[in-house]
Amino acid sequence: MARVGILAIQGDFFEHRRLLESLGAEVREIRLAQELDEVDGLIIPGGESTTIVQLIDIFDMRDKLRERILVDGMPTWGTCAGMIVMAQKLADRRPDPLHLMNIEVSRNAFGRQVDSFETDLEIESLQGPAFRAVFIRAPAVDHIGEGVSVIASLADGRPVAVRQANMLATSFHPELTDDARMHAFFLSIVEQAA
Ligand code: GLN
Repeated sequence: MARVGILAIQGDFFEHRRLLESLGAEVREIRLAQELDEVDGLIIPGGESTTIVQLIDIFDMRDKLRERILVDGMPTWGTCAGMIVMAQKLADRRPDPLHLMNIEVSRNAFGRQVDSFETDLEIESLQGPAFRAVFIRAPAVDHIGEGVSVIASLADGRPVAVRQANMLATSFHPELTDDARMHAFFLSIVEQAA
């Protein structure tokens, strides 16, 4: 079984843990750079992206994260704040993201009145009914670059789930539902890569 790390310095890492364990995955909470060598895949959870990036830099994890993900190709999935952390470029001044995925992202992009909402999404590679997606002060993908494919969009066409090789990012929070299909999909990427 794949060993999956969850970056556990801020945000809703416990919810990811619960769903991954329900699928039988071995989960490690990651708080130190060297722990990244002990896992086959990584989730960067939702939370507050400036805080997550600040802590990544305070704990000196930036270089190791970039090496494991970009050089070793370790499968990595960012949800909400995790998507912001993984972006190449942000429309916002802060934080300085990890520049991993070829996407440009705006934080809190869905406006004040609707900064939280739920909607049904068709997600490529998931079987069965539409996925109930939870958006909480969610980021939007403004631009996708080379190598990135869109695996789910809102009805207005805005991408909300993207993939680039072994990297996935979703604007929404599958960890806040009981639907484990996105986690199962990510585990299949981790197992293929391991
Ligand atoms: N708005 C948050 C940020 O900019 C992300 C929100 C979330 O992860 N639910 O970091």
